[in-house]
Amino acid sequence: PFNFSAGPAMLPAEVMQQAQEEFLNWNQLGISVMEISHRDPVFVRMAEQAEQDLRELMAIPENYRVLFMHGGGRGQFTAVPQNIAGPEDTVDYLDSGIWSEFAIREAKKYVKHVNVVAGAVTTEQGKAIAAVNDWQLSPQAAYFHYCPNETVDGIALHGVPDVNVPIVADMSSNILSEPLDVSRFGVIYAGAQKNIGPSGFAIAIVRDDLLGRAQGNTSTIMDYTVQAAENSMYNTPNTFAWYLAGLVFQWLKRQGGVAAMGRLNQAKAAKLYDYIDQSSFYRNPVHPAYRSMMNVPFLLADEALNDAFLAQAEAAGLLGLKGHRFVGGMRASIYNAMPMAGIDALIEFMREFERNA
Ligand code: PLP
Repeated sequence: PFNFSAGPAMLPAEVMQQAQEEFLNWNQLGISVMEISHRDPVFVRMAEQAEQDLRELMAIPENYRVLFMHGGGRGQFTAVPQNIAGPEDTVDYLDSGIWSEFAIREAKKYVKHVNVVAGAVTTEQGKAIAAVNDWQLSPQAAYFHYCPNETVDGIALHGVPDVNVPIVADMSSNILSEPLDVSRFGVIYAGAQKNIGPSGFAIAIVRDDLLGRAQGNTSTIMDYTVQAAENSMYNTPNTFAWYLAGLVFQWLKRQGGVAAMGRLNQAKAAKLYDYIDQSSFYRNPVHPAYRSMMNVPFLLADEALNDAFLAQAEAAGLLGLKGHRFVGGMRASIYNAMPMAGIDALIEFMREFERNA
């Protein structure tokens, strides 16, 4: 089957195979990677290699720390304001969709002035994001936060916005999907369960000069400075997730890294959007310039056919196509692990479904 779930999402078949083979006997130790101390030199070597591979893949500059954190994407919604801003500060947030809104809600608990600079807009060509010139940025913001790829809405902001304060980006659903200039950011974070590995785990890439600012009552496991000092092992990390993430990073390197992945992802998304656009039976609600390369929502002209579409898709081995419960319709999440064959199978199914409807 091809799994189009938004997350936890499909992982590369090769990685799952390797994990299965090593499950009971990791590194010839006769035990699982889950059963070894995170302080054991064998585990530490694996953990360091995973970081090294991620650094290579994303070309992360020396002056950034890579943190392996608990609590997924939403954990970072709380970590960011506590670590990067003071309680009396102003912070700027772009509200481009549902995940941005959840991040804003969390920030308000820790920072007095949470300024929403702009939001999503409806245009004749579909949902879009207000133009940067119309954003109400605060000159003194401790940081600017945005979500470049809104997983639920299928809206993306392509290109890094030109703002003069540290940029914090929630890349939960687009990290490692294409090349990126990390040096443009203060913090990049991602829940792991789309392009990295198991859920509940998160990666935060934090510029050195933003460490040492945590609010006094920040919980210690969410404190970037402590986790940086402890090599993300202040407490017991999610060792299995770290291991699996490491396998995914090695797989990505074997695919040719993020440049090759970006080309494939572009081609996958273009093929699916082109098919949807030429059809009067299916429709994507997002302005072409703001479409996500990872999450492709689509609606059937006759919504009464939704259940039949989903049931038949599942029977055909196309899983996880139901849209998020907040927006309805369908959504195909086509992260790194989705091969072109999955896109072809989906389009073939959509064509058949339309023909028989
Ligand atoms: N941010 C984005 C962009 C997401 O897509 C998600 C959801 O999966 C989250 C944050 C929340 O992640 P988690 O469920 O790991 O807290």
